[in-house]
Amino acid sequence: MANLEDKRKFYIDGKWVDPVKANDLEVIDPTTEEAVAVISVGDQADTDKAVAAAKAAFPAWAATPPAKRLEYVEKILAVYKRRAKDMAAAITTEMGAPADMSLNDQAEAGTYHIENFITAMKDFEWIRPLSKEAPKSRIAWEPIGVVGLITPWNWPMNQVTLKVIPAILAGNTVVLKPSEIAPLSSMVFSEIVDEAGLPKGVYNMVNGDGVGVGTQLSVHPDVDMISFTGSTRAGIAITKAAADSVKKVTLELGGKGANLVFADADDNAVKRGVQHCFYNSGQSCNAPTRMLVERPIYEKAVETARAVAEATKVAPASEPGKHIGPVVSKQQWDKIQDLIQKGIDEGARLVAGGTGLPEGVNRGYFVRPTVFADVNNEMTIARQEIFGPVLSIIPFDTEDEAVEIANDTIYGLTNYVQSQDGTRRNRLARKLRAGMVEMNGESRGAGSPFGGVKASGRAREGGYFGIEEFMDAKAISGWDADAPQAGQNGTVDA
Ligand code: NAD
Repeated sequence: MANLEDKRKFYIDGKWVDPVKANDLEVIDPTTEEAVAVISVGDQADTDKAVAAAKAAFPAWAATPPAKRLEYVEKILAVYKRRAKDMAAAITTEMGAPADMSLNDQAEAGTYHIENFITAMKDFEWIRPLSKEAPKSRIAWEPIGVVGLITPWNWPMNQVTLKVIPAILAGNTVVLKPSEIAPLSSMVFSEIVDEAGLPKGVYNMVNGDGVGVGTQLSVHPDVDMISFTGSTRAGIAITKAAADSVKKVTLELGGKGANLVFADADDNAVKRGVQHCFYNSGQSCNAPTRMLVERPIYEKAVETARAVAEATKVAPASEPGKHIGPVVSKQQWDKIQDLIQKGIDEGARLVAGGTGLPEGVNRGYFVRPTVFADVNNEMTIARQEIFGPVLSIIPFDTEDEAVEIANDTIYGLTNYVQSQDGTRRNRLARKLRAGMVEMNGESRGAGSPFGGVKASGRAREGGYFGIEEFMDAKAISGWDADAPQAGQNGTVDA
């Protein structure tokens, strides 16, 4: 215990505080399998303290002019950028993202989202006319209240910034409960918010697990909304727990993305798809894990996928360069091994990788980049989210068959299309049942809404759409356009 970093405190009501009752949990570095820090697992009394602080801070924060709230977020952005290296180091330690990827992608995602939120709110109309036909009607955008934010470990700062920033911009106060597996980046984030000087109680953070703080926030009568990202299992549990207090619940859940590769796809399409599947060691909810390939190019695509998998370097997260690191935990490693074995047992053709540690590796939760061909959509590896560097390749003969396979899943987060035929692309963009369809490697534009349908959840995050989730639309009639405008909570804007 002596060498472990002490990260036992919580951030409540503008200061770092000790947990009400000691309950230590070690944070394990997945590259070395060694404990590197110790956090506290919060309890009901800690949750209550944080919720009470957020509740007390809400009226004044909701009444703070939006331009002032924006100024605070601009301060957070400035400190966040200055602390980018600390953030990246925390993420590398807690969940195993390789150093360069951690700085340039994982930590950078936070900068990207905060900047997009600031842009989205610059000219935001907080009160707007309903229509020309109803001149005394207005729609006012109001904050929801105290919001509980529950986040996963796979893209820790991506998720934290996608929730904290829009929630507070909209005038809510928040209690963040980050993943207990990857809590270190949220400790750095709390230091950043502290330095930015937000009024006390606007932002609070309590570490803890799902059965404890996660559930306590979900059932809490003084929490008005839960914004959750994580597994479909936990999303269902939270929805049920939140039902009795009729709180709003937004969910960003799992995925099983299909990547439809047609015979007229560009030369890089297959390579790009495999690399995307392995990116972040396969631990992305939007990973294209099912590659559907049109029959004429099927064997060539399988051969390309094998070559890409064999060329994918697996190395410690602390090393510089482009490689994939370990998966986050022993529990995830075991689950991935079982699923790879299931693929073999159910008759898929193992083309690259497989069970066990990569060659030359004897510690750390490293997984061999794995490719299965001749997968059919009924196999476990085509149906379950694996969350490891494991690709399933499925052949198809017609466009209709490809759409049927792609949509035959409980999930609906992101689907992908690779084809030079624009008419086909536009048709498929509408036919695929998913929150997002990305084609020919084009990335979504800045501020695009991120979110899914079906068991992938119901919420949109990022940019303007992501702020709207944290607001209620209030319908007003009898509005006097000539009298002074009142701000949120009835304050009169200067
Ligand atoms: P998880 O559901 O186990 O945990 C996520 C968070 O929820 C953690 O903070 C955890 O403590 C908490 N939690 C767990 N059970 C809870 C409960 N019953 N009540 C309240 N809180 C609870 O997920 P994970 O393993 O951390 O993350 C991986 C999952 O997240 C994958 O399924 C992945 O697809 C999903 N994910 C989705 C998106 C998206 O935007 N759709 C993004 C990233 C990750």
